[in-house]
Amino acid sequence: MRGAVLYAPGDIRVEELDDPKIIEPTDAILRLSATCVCGSDLWPYRGVEPVQGPSPMGHEYVGIVEEVGSQVSTIRPGQFVVGSFWASDNTCEICQAGYQSSCVHRVLMGTIGTQAELARVPLADGTLVATPDLPPDDLIPSLLAASDVLGTGWFGAVAAQAGPAKTVAVVGDGAVGLLAVLAASQLGAERIIAMSRHAPRQQLARQYGATDIVEERGDAGVTRIKDLTGGLGAHSVVEAVGTQESMLQAIRSTRPGGHVGFVGVAHGVELSVEELFFSAVHLHGGPAPVRRFLPELIDLIWNRQINPGKVFDQTLPLDQAAEGYRAMDQRRAIKTLLTI
Ligand SMILES: [Zn+2]
Repeated sequence: MRGAVLYAPGDIRVEELDDPKIIEPTDAILRLSATCVCGSDLWPYRGVEPVQGPSPMGHEYVGIVEEVGSQVSTIRPGQFVVGSFWASDNTCEICQAGYQSSCVHRVLMGTIGTQAELARVPLADGTLVATPDLPPDDLIPSLLAASDVLGTGWFGAVAAQAGPAKTVAVVGDGAVGLLAVLAASQLGAERIIAMSRHAPRQQLARQYGATDIVEERGDAGVTRIKDLTGGLGAHSVVEAVGTQESMLQAIRSTRPGGHVGFVGVAHGVELSVEELFFSAVHLHGGPAPVRRFLPELIDLIWNRQINPGKVFDQTLPLDQAAEGYRAMDQRRAIKTLLTI
């Protein structure tokens, strides 16, 4: 099969790899219908995370089940399925509490690689959710978005307790931030402030339900949020970047008693506990338990109530994955879909 491999920062190659095989009896093999490049793939691509030798890339996937192991009982060959970037059993105490991304048996799909024609998915019964039928082609981008960015934005909004009568601010205008706007809107937020300085992203944020746009960043951004909320700050703030500046911007934009949902993968962020103490905000974040939300998200997509696939503003064949990474790195694309 063909698959994308990162050799060194900036060096992505699509090459011939061994076809994956069933290793554990709980595995499934998928023939992917589409895959994509994630903002978090840019951390190793930029050399912010070390690259340890040639690494298969990608952790977002949708596709058709080709083969299942002997202990897989609910997932069957021929089904179209969506899974999350953490494979999880969906039965342990942590999974049952809705934190499948911290499952005691979890396996990170990024170590397997899904920017490829085929992928092995561990713990298939727990990890994969089948659609009611084979989807029409135009739903595939949205179903693929559910695999990570939609589920992550959704968790950010839930962790920030977005809901009716709340003002929600979203820090970050990547795919996750834009889909946190969509999530906040679906959850019934009264006012949604998207923090973005890019016109096409502002436009998509508005389509997804943003009522206000703030272009300022850092302390100036915090001041604008305070100005828009009677000096109090937002009830709910989603942090979808993962840098020192974005995290402080999120915490300082939240009113006392409010909630910050932080879903940007943190890199080098250091917080002052003294500042946290006096902020009186709730902080909840982490790798999103996308699996918790998948049945609901698939249903909303299947019934065409939401269209998260609009975050894909570039589509390339898998063989041109390197250009997809470059475009996202240079912020020429919000998110790149790779066709197979
Ligand atoms: Zn579990």
